[in-house]
Amino acid sequence: MNDTRDLTNLTVTDALAALRSGELSCTELVRAFLERIERLEPRLHAFITLTPELALRQAAAADRQYTRARKSGESTPPLLGIPLAVKDLLALAGVRCTCGSRILDNFVPPYSATVVQRLLDAGVVVLGKTNTDEFAMGSSTENSAYGVTRNPWNVKHVPGGSSGGSAAAVAARMTPAALGTDTGGSVRQPASFCGVTGLKPTYGRVSRFGLVAYGSSLDTVGVFARTAADVALLFSHMAGFDPRDATSVDFPLPLPCLDGKTNLKDVRIGVPQEYFIEGIQPEVEGAVKAAITHLEKLGAVVLPISLPHTEYALPVYYLIAPAEASANLARYDGVRFGPRVEAENILDLFCNTRGQLFGAEVKRRIMLGTYALSAGYYDAYYGQAQKVRTLIKQDFEKAFELVDVIAAPVAPSTAFKIGEHADDPLAMYLEDIFTLPANLAGVPGLAFPVGFDYQGLPVGMQLMGAPFGEEMLLRLAHVYQQTTTWHLQTPTGVD
Ligand code: GLN
Repeated sequence: MNDTRDLTNLTVTDALAALRSGELSCTELVRAFLERIERLEPRLHAFITLTPELALRQAAAADRQYTRARKSGESTPPLLGIPLAVKDLLALAGVRCTCGSRILDNFVPPYSATVVQRLLDAGVVVLGKTNTDEFAMGSSTENSAYGVTRNPWNVKHVPGGSSGGSAAAVAARMTPAALGTDTGGSVRQPASFCGVTGLKPTYGRVSRFGLVAYGSSLDTVGVFARTAADVALLFSHMAGFDPRDATSVDFPLPLPCLDGKTNLKDVRIGVPQEYFIEGIQPEVEGAVKAAITHLEKLGAVVLPISLPHTEYALPVYYLIAPAEASANLARYDGVRFGPRVEAENILDLFCNTRGQLFGAEVKRRIMLGTYALSAGYYDAYYGQAQKVRTLIKQDFEKAFELVDVIAAPVAPSTAFKIGEHADDPLAMYLEDIFTLPANLAGVPGLAFPVGFDYQGLPVGMQLMGAPFGEEMLLRLAHVYQQTTTWHLQTPTGVD
């Protein structure tokens, strides 16, 4: 394989086959991605930190391992030599982890997150750490202290957020796969905006150890790739019990086996009326409904369902997530982590450091959360929100007695313009209305491309499943992708 530009079009599955057969070397593959990153990064800014030396070192080691294995017949790690980008909210030992914030500008974690370590053990090569809204608070990557990431389909538009760097990098073929995190939609919404496939797993299924905490009862680690088959492959090496995460679940993981069958006979798909509301972009509604019809033609049974408490998800989330964030972010005070803004006394040191190094959105969330938790208001806000959260969870439990999966839009619109919601936090929060419920209920969600709008921007669809039902979501998306071509479209404007 001589033409290095073509190598960046390989899926994880195809790249693995070529690496194993010896037709392709890891070094060639990694160089192709690094060259593409070098070319596109100035325009897209998908990364906060690049790790080319590490990647080339890992690639050379992988090549040696393949050569040895070919001689001896021994087996190789399952993802050996596959390039990966990691959201800058997950620890990678020895590499700066900023969380998109100045307050962690120089923070270098001494250990790797469990999910990162699992993938390293499976053989991946890390290309770099991707851009994110500060502490994952946002829906556009505009809240990063390191500059906005641009959408590869149209650089005037946002890539979504908060894992916008990871989604843009996969869409622009700067990496075949990337890790993201999803607290209220941060994998699914950018996947939808960038036209890639993104999985938010069941809460507890992938370890949060080494993920910098935002809303601990909502945080999940997910993955982006260009196909459901690639997402399934990576996910199977990410999930699993971890004694270092108290909410990690010891639930056996069937390795997603996505066969070639395209028959969806007897799969019951529920379509919730609350997700097709006034104000949704007509092309989004049209593309999602067409995708549901497509699945129906493949044998699925489509049923109307109701998730009656959906309208409360937004206020509930924007009480619970900031409340948890206000507690989690108390540790950044200029003493233990990151840079410090000096002062005469310790209280001023805390105030100066937090006042100068946190961005505006993070401060807003800390104030909202502190207020919701304060004595006298706790029951009225946080306590009440927890009760309504239970009702939202029960909506899903009831729905999954009737159907196997729920199909819905990911977001009410396609990618909006950079700056469009800059002065209106509420408009930004409204972007999350269809993704928040899955986090509140702890259920898995998968986003994948199902069309384009009149501007040529991708439209995504979301499938939500019962707890631990990732395999069903991946199977449906895989069948969809075997019989359609939306996921094969590439943004050409950035080349
Ligand atoms: N946009 C949502 C928020 O700002 C979700 C972010 C996320 O999932 N990390 O909280």
